[in-house]
Amino acid sequence: MTSAVLERGSERQERVRTFLLRSLGSGQVSHAYLFCGSSAGDIEATARAFAQALVCPDGGCGSCGECQRVVHGTHPDVRWLEPESAQKGYLVEQVRGLIEDSALTPVRARRKVYVIRSAERLGAQAANALLKTLEEPADDVVFLLLAPSADVVLTTVRSRCSVVPFATADASAEAARVAAATGADEPTARALIAVAGTADGARALLADDARLQLRERILSMLGSIDTASDRELIALADALVASAGDASADATSEEEARAAEIDADFLSRAALKDAESRRKRAEAAKSRQALAEAVRVVEVALEDALALTIGPDLPLLDETHAALARALAARGTETVLCALDAAERASADLYRPATPALVLQVMFLRLKEALCPSSAQ
Ligand SMILES: [Zn+2]
Repeated sequence: MTSAVLERGSERQERVRTFLLRSLGSGQVSHAYLFCGSSAGDIEATARAFAQALVCPDGGCGSCGECQRVVHGTHPDVRWLEPESAQKGYLVEQVRGLIEDSALTPVRARRKVYVIRSAERLGAQAANALLKTLEEPADDVVFLLLAPSADVVLTTVRSRCSVVPFATADASAEAARVAAATGADEPTARALIAVAGTADGARALLADDARLQLRERILSMLGSIDTASDRELIALADALVASAGDASADATSEEEARAAEIDADFLSRAALKDAESRRKRAEAAKSRQALAEAVRVVEVALEDALALTIGPDLPLLDETHAALARALAARGTETVLCALDAAERASADLYRPATPALVLQVMFLRLKEALCPSSAQ
């Protein structure tokens, strides 16, 4: 299936367009996408074109009645949502209404599409109400969440979406700034922005040798996954979990330093309990963040591989590991998509009450199964 409207989109977003065209073509449309980036115009236009592709009988011709209705905002199966409250963002009632609506069958099309603008304005309560539906919507429902960047969206929401980063107008300028500030070369800066999500995050990552080394270990494991034994994969998962533990220990000492500033004699029991649960939360968040970064390293490599299976000339997020991306791409689109699925599942599982070591072990074993199907016993 081709989508005329998607193919006409912005040159700058070639990577995004080819990714979406590929999902349409292979029939592997996710139930939730997070379109993120600072190019709001491109994001809005792509969301509209993708919605057309999803509801048009010709896959997004741009001229039929269905496509026209999407453009005019009058298609009953394509709903655009804005936060209802200026102060609170999305209201829980608003989200409940959306969930009820999503359970109804489409009016005209085969699918229903919900475009959630300003997804960063889904607060904890509204997001909680949405999570289950976001994870397992009716088969014919697709959510498109739009946000200025992935890291302003609640992680519980983000982890349930297929994240689609849009190129920013000044992506190379941003990489150049990070490079100038840190002494790294520009391709490295660009790759680390992709891993960390933001320029600030990339700077922090560049200043942390331990994290950089773990990243290299993960990438080199991906490169030699054919010969990696299950035991080695599990050892790598455990090493990542141990280092995430170190990160959370840093969080603990920050909290302890804060507690020490308060005269303990004056601390009521409630305040102590409060400090304790704050410490635990900070610890858990820090360690989850470290593990999510490890998963993201895998995703960036696989996303690049996927891009190469679509078009050999597409720009890569990580040019410094282009050889790895090529080797992964050589295994074929289906294989890469399967591996990406393993990584995406891990990134969602990190936010469930599961043992983190287990989540990473399972991810690495699934990656091996996906990338080297012949090795499965
Ligand atoms: Zn059409």
